[in-house]
Amino acid sequence: MSETRIIDASDPAAQNKVVEEVVGLLSAGEIVALPTETVYGLGADALNADAVAKVFAAKERPEFDPLIVHVGSYEQVDEVAEVPEEIKEVVAKLMKAHWPGPLTLVLPKKDCVPDIVTSGLPSVAVRMSAHPIMKAIVRGLGNPIAAPSANRFGRISPTSASAVEKELAGRISAIVDGGACREGLESTIIRPEAGEKRPTLHMLRSGPVTKEMLQRFGKVERPKRNRSNEAPEAPGQLANHYAPVTPLRLLRKFEDFKPEAGKKYGLLSYCGAEKTGFINAYEWDQVEQLSPGNGKLAEAAVRFFFVLRQLDESGVDEIIAEPVSETGLGVAIMDKLRRASVR
Ligand code: AMP
Ligand code: MG
Repeated sequence: MSETRIIDASDPAAQNKVVEEVVGLLSAGEIVALPTETVYGLGADALNADAVAKVFAAKERPEFDPLIVHVGSYEQVDEVAEVPEEIKEVVAKLMKAHWPGPLTLVLPKKDCVPDIVTSGLPSVAVRMSAHPIMKAIVRGLGNPIAAPSANRFGRISPTSASAVEKELAGRISAIVDGGACREGLESTIIRPEAGEKRPTLHMLRSGPVTKEMLQRFGKVERPKRNRSNEAPEAPGQLANHYAPVTPLRLLRKFEDFKPEAGKKYGLLSYCGAEKTGFINAYEWDQVEQLSPGNGKLAEAAVRFFFVLRQLDESGVDEIIAEPVSETGLGVAIMDKLRRASVR
């Protein structure tokens, strides 16, 4: 593959043309980066195994890491998944409350979904994006779209078309530029299961739909933290995911920081608050704040991957991250910081 085209989708009047063009590429088995409300995805026709194989190749993604399948309608869920009778009710409630939106459901798969999509698992992860362009493209294609995040494997997820370009230019047919992503963090992934009194919702990945938001639907079980890179308890949730190229260290308190002479350090600050003792305690070569407007966790989530990328490209030798409060959206942010700090 040589050139990657950038397709501008900022003009609503031109949306139909963009959708038609992208549907043409996907129908022909090409792969295209697409905007969603979480992060940019790298899309392929989910029912075309050869096209999906191109996604793995472009991302250099190992084949034990399954992809999320985007649907355009509730009916399309039944085309790819077999929802067991005992969880039909909770699945319907979850979809009604959070679709379209950043919630992915892991359900038993149907045979039409190629094994390469699910890494041979008997289940498939499905979601419906709220991004108008993504929605229109899935509907236009008529088939579901398999779309993992549009970055090279293990790297920072892209929240803008230019970030995708840095990751995948020359490896994919096109990038649809739909502006910056609204949520900025990957979807929450849950596997619903029947329980004795209430359903159990196994939270395989924390994200914008928080534990607090899910509790009314069932008993939420958080994943056990996986410290090794050998045996992921949930596929794809490797300990060192989301790593910047620059080493990153997550520190509990500033006193744990032991700088080496001659090394350049960048600080990933939460709100630049002085009371945590990080920002003014050292002469940092570069400081980036997750929530400079003091919007706290919501602002931090939207800016997370953008800020991480800024620090990664700033030329520092090491990134020091201060913790954010581990509630609500902060759970997903801390999870990503921990993974980014594993080498
Ligand atoms: P990404 O598309 O890069 O955001 O990653 C998709 C993630 O969804 C994978 O890394 C898995 O953790 C998860 N996933 C996808 N399919 C399944 C499945 N069938 N069972 C469990 N987890 C899944
Ligand atoms: Mg990813």
